[in-house]
Order: sequence, then structure tokens, then C-alpha cells
Amino acid sequence: MRVLLGVALISVLLLLAASVIYTVNALRDSTLPVRIAKEDVNWSVHQIEVEVFKLHLATMQTDLSQKPVFSLSLKYDVLLSRTDMFKAGELHQVVRTLPETSVAVDEIIKISESLEPLVSKAEAGDAVARTRLISELMDLRKKAHALTLTANQELVERKSQERQHLARTFLIAKTLFGVLILTVLVGFFSLFLMVVRAEKATREADYHRQEAEANNQAKSRFLSNISHELRTPLNAIMGYSELLRMEAEGLDPEQQANIAEISIAGEHLLSLINDILDLSKIENGKLTISLAPVSVLSMLNEALPYVRSLAADNQVIVNPPTDETDYMIRVDRTRMVQVLINLLSNAVKYNRKGGMVNAHLRFMEMVGESELAGAEPAKILRITIEDTGIGIKKELQEKLFQPFSRLAGDVTIEGTGIGLVLSQHLVSLMHGEIGFRSAEGVGSEFWVDFPIYRMLQKVDTGTNAGD
Ligand code: ADP
Repeated sequence: MRVLLGVALISVLLLLAASVIYTVNALRDSTLPVRIAKEDVNWSVHQIEVEVFKLHLATMQTDLSQKPVFSLSLKYDVLLSRTDMFKAGELHQVVRTLPETSVAVDEIIKISESLEPLVSKAEAGDAVARTRLISELMDLRKKAHALTLTANQELVERKSQERQHLARTFLIAKTLFGVLILTVLVGFFSLFLMVVRAEKATREADYHRQEAEANNQAKSRFLSNISHELRTPLNAIMGYSELLRMEAEGLDPEQQANIAEISIAGEHLLSLINDILDLSKIENGKLTISLAPVSVLSMLNEALPYVRSLAADNQVIVNPPTDETDYMIRVDRTRMVQVLINLLSNAVKYNRKGGMVNAHLRFMEMVGESELAGAEPAKILRITIEDTGIGIKKELQEKLFQPFSRLAGDVTIEGTGIGLVLSQHLVSLMHGEIGFRSAEGVGSEFWVDFPIYRMLQKVDTGTNAGD
């Protein structure tokens, strides 16, 4: 929008500047012929009349003195030199713009040039020629006089027309200048408004950002404090329930089962509190991880037992990778196991009776497909946890990886909506990528990609193969 306004403003300014330049040029051009006409045409036309008069007088004097007067041809030449000035050049051009003057000038030039034989004969003493010349010059004098008057009149008319034209052009020029100044003012004003608005928007954005940061920090502080506060009594509850369990010989089976329930509920609560603490630490940039090469199968073997009892309860079969090849990837072992447990338990939780969960490892060579693989081909390991569960509706899939968003709609399935967000943050902190594919009613696949540190041929179970 602002760019469009700027372009429009610049276009208007350019257009106006061009119009002003054009008008100034037009003013200059139109005043030029007026000036020439005023200064030269009147005088030059009058000179023709004067020279015709002189020639006429000289011819008549020859008649009186009865002696040849040699200055006749001289005077005639002067007349021709005056008329020649109208044949070309600026005078010619100006006279062409005055219609009646132009016709009269042409006629006088023609008559003047046709007099040459008569002038020569009169000068040689031919009395008949002299008489004819006198009469011709008489006519010519009248015509020259009429020409002086016509030229004068036409020039006056022309001048007044030019004046009107000039006045109009000046008016247009003044209007254009006015519009130009107005546009510049409007332009500056809009610019000023834009700058003020932009500054205000920046200030508001800064304010909102600071407010959001403050809120976020307050929320993280609150979560962190409350989690710590919860953890202390919870540890006590779990400790005492453990004690009770150890001294449970005197208790009947129902009481023992109740104690076990306390322990399970405590474990669940503790893992939830830990997740919330982790999330708030990540949001504050306070979660530290240490990367080291670790065997992938060993981490899977550590994670799988965590979901076994849940899988048994839900009647879901969990299959470890069948491939014997193992890989080393650079991760924080504890955090990576936490991610795997989360993906595996989701695959079990959001499954169906008799459903399956499969874990796969896939070696991939990728070029420029993601941040993991640039221009050079990169060896990437994809760990996929695939299930034959309820899947996720297409329209809900964009809400995945958002904190506390639970999409299944089945409230009986335990969960808080933190696991995936936490996993995504952790994977990204370990320089990996997380992805998924899901079809409602068919099942889901969640995977994590990591650059391969080393490929191992034999299955290496349960060990942290740090370098
Ligand atoms: P939680 O499982 O505690 O609700 P998560 O962050 O792990 O939280 O998952 C968020 C939501 O994503 C879940 O509530 C569920 O709706 C959906 N989801 C996650 N994994 C799967 C899966 N394998 N199949 C179907 N839905 C899933």
C-alpha cells in the first residue's frame, strides 16, 4: 500500500515537473517571434517604402534636370537590397505568419524586380522609359505605403493575440505550479504521517513484545515455582508409599493394590511435573544438554520397557526394529530416550485393541531437503515409530506441536498435550528434526531425523556407546 502511494506520488510529481518544463519552453518559444516581429518587421517594411520614395524622387529629378542621373541604379539596388531581406531568413519567416503582409511583400518584390529594364533605360536618358518608371514607382509607393500600414496592423493584432496566449499560458503555468506545490506538500504530509504511524507501530510492537516476554517469564517462573513446590510433597508421598510397599506383608491384597496405585499415580504426576519444568526451562533457554555419540538401538531398548505395561493394558503389540544394523548419532542420551518414550507411548495410547506399534530405522542420503542436508549429500538416520491407531484428522494436524493441544477428543486417554512440544524442542536442541504423517482411522507415523555419526553392523544392546 505504502509502496503504491509512493509510486503514485512520484509519478504525479514527474508529470507535473514535465508539464512545467513544457510550459516554460512554450512561453520562451512564443515570445521569440513576437520580439523579432516587433523589432525588425515594422522598420524593414517601412524602409521599402522609404527606398521606393527615394527612387521615385530621383527619377523625377532626372526629368527636371534633363540630365542623366547615375544614382538611379544605385538607389534601385538599395531598394532591391531592402526587398531581398524578405526573401529568406528570420524576417521571411515572421512575414509568412502575417497573411496580408506576406501577399503584399511578395507583390512589391515582384514589381520591384520587374523595374530593372526601365531603371536602366531611364538612367541612359530614355524619356519614355523614365515617364513609365515614374508612373510605375508612383503605384509602387502607394503599395509600399499600404504595406507599411498592413504590416503594422497585423503586427499589432498579432501582438495582442500573443499577449492573450501568454496570459493563458501563464495562468496554466501558475495553476501547475500551485498543483505541484500542493502535491509536494501533500506528499510531505503523507510521508510525515507514515513515519509517525510507523514509529507508533514500532513502539506498540516493542511494548507488546516486552509485555509478552514479561508474561512469558512470569508464566515460566510460576510453572517452575509451582512444579518445585509440588515435587517436594510428591517425593514424600512416593517415598512413604514405597516404605509401605516394602513393609506390606501384614496387608491384605486390596490394601497392597491401593499402595501400588499411589505409587503409579505419583510416578505419573512426577513425570508430568518434570515435563512442565523442562518446557519452562526450554522457553527460558535454561535447559542444558550434552551431546555425545550414542547407539540408537541401545536407546530404543531402554525406552521400550517403559511402554510395555501400557501396551499390555491396551492390548497393543510393540515391535522393536527388525534390522540388525545399528547407528551412532550425536544426542543427549537421557533426552533422546525421553523423546522415544514419548513417541512410543503416544503410539500405544492412541491405538486400538489388537493394534500394532513398529519401530524402524532407515538410512537415507539427503541433498538440500532440509536443514540437516545442505548442498552436499548427508547421511541421515530416520527413527520411525509407526502405529495402526486412530490417526489424526487432517484439519487438526496443524495444531500438533502446540502446547496443551490434545486432538484425540477421547478424554479417557491420559495426557496433557506437552509431550510432542517438548520432544520437538529437545530434538531441535540436539540438531535433529521431527516429522509426522497421519491418516484418520488408519494410523500415524512420527519420526526423528539425525545425522549419522557412525554405522555399526552388529546390534549393540543397552550400552551407551559414547566415544
Ligand atoms: P498427550 O499425549 O499428553 O496428549 P502429546 O503432546 O504427546 O500430548 O500429543 C498431543 C496430541 O497429539 C495428543 O493429545 C493426540 O491427540 C495427538 N497424538 C499424538 N501422537 C499421536 C498418535 N500416535 N496417534 C494419534 N494422535 C496422536
